[in-house]
Amino acid sequence: MRALLESIAQIRLALPHFEFDAKLFLWTVDRVEAIEEARDRYINLRPCPIPAIATTSKAALRVLGPEAFLNPEYRGQKFKRQTSGSSGSPSVLYKSERAALVDLCLPAWKAMRLNDIDDSRRVRSLFITDNSESTTAILVDPSGDEPRLILRLALGADQSLGFDRLIEAIRVCEPLLVTSNPNLLRAFLDHCEQRNLEPRELSFAGFLCSGGVLSPDTARRLRRAAPGGLLLDAYVSTEFGYLGARCGEDRFHLDESLNSYRIDEDGKLLVSSIYNEAMPLKDFDIGDRVTLHPRSNCACGKPGLLVDRIDGRVLPDFFLAGRRVSPSVYMHAFKKFPELEEYQLTQTGDLCFDLKIEVKARTTSFPFEAFLNFIRAPLGDGVTITASLAAGLHQYDKFQRFRRCQV
Ligand SMILES: [Zn+2]
Repeated sequence: MRALLESIAQIRLALPHFEFDAKLFLWTVDRVEAIEEARDRYINLRPCPIPAIATTSKAALRVLGPEAFLNPEYRGQKFKRQTSGSSGSPSVLYKSERAALVDLCLPAWKAMRLNDIDDSRRVRSLFITDNSESTTAILVDPSGDEPRLILRLALGADQSLGFDRLIEAIRVCEPLLVTSNPNLLRAFLDHCEQRNLEPRELSFAGFLCSGGVLSPDTARRLRRAAPGGLLLDAYVSTEFGYLGARCGEDRFHLDESLNSYRIDEDGKLLVSSIYNEAMPLKDFDIGDRVTLHPRSNCACGKPGLLVDRIDGRVLPDFFLAGRRVSPSVYMHAFKKFPELEEYQLTQTGDLCFDLKIEVKARTTSFPFEAFLNFIRAPLGDGVTITASLAAGLHQYDKFQRFRRCQV
């Protein structure tokens, strides 16, 4: 533990531009000793003893309010998590302490174990995010044989500046993995290209991709850019944390030690959490369709429910004259416009968008112009938006609301 604390002090000194969230660090340090005592309980999670409340989707959470799904018997600290704006329907979730720690630490470790990766570096993962709710933090990751560090880097509004700082942080921390969703990793590679920098020159071992499906093109690009060609593809959601990862045989293994799964007649994946004591959800439709592999055993020999394909977890950006705008800029739409029930922004041309707005029942006035300006501001000048009020937007695909058409 002393060596880890020294490492943290060194990293903080070497990266003076970052404002680290000291509370988060202290929180994980506090927990490490408790977790070290109960490592088996942490790694081999036992189901929480509280029956989960059945739900259907984020839409249900939003209509009923997250409090309806809270477990009144849970007395521990609760962590509030806002789901990503890229889903188009941000909602609040509550995590128990154990679930919050598992979310932060287990994806990298589990994905590494599935792919037989050894971990000897002091910084296991340098996690980058453009979620405006996230802070920059150093966390102690107690999974594995020895505690390691995870550095979480919030890129901020100026993505270019964020990427320059990320490059600096990779040089200082020499992490095993650079972790993020496919879009952000792709944007990072673009940034390196603009700077005439080969990511291979940087001192990290590979990429861990989570929070979206990797297209074959992006996978190839990331593999080429990583120093050892190492690419781990994890399947992670805000609601449930680590769901699984892709193995060397190119199949996803859904991890049955953390959640349980059911596939409905439409092929949609319904997930039940068995370890989030604060808000256990049952049969939650996370909005993805999956294709099960016909065989129950994988040639890699690892356990888990085998999946060939996952459809739905696409995080498309809008492309505007060489500029890329992430849908996460609209993260606060529902907070800022409480009368808003749903909206759908679709790119229909190079600089053309279609906006459909659904307001809550019994709304007598909606600040239409203010909402239009809120949508328009990140897209910049010269953009045409056709806006209309609509009733009952298509709910099926959770990313439907941020589609980008092929132009
Ligand atoms: Zn396998």
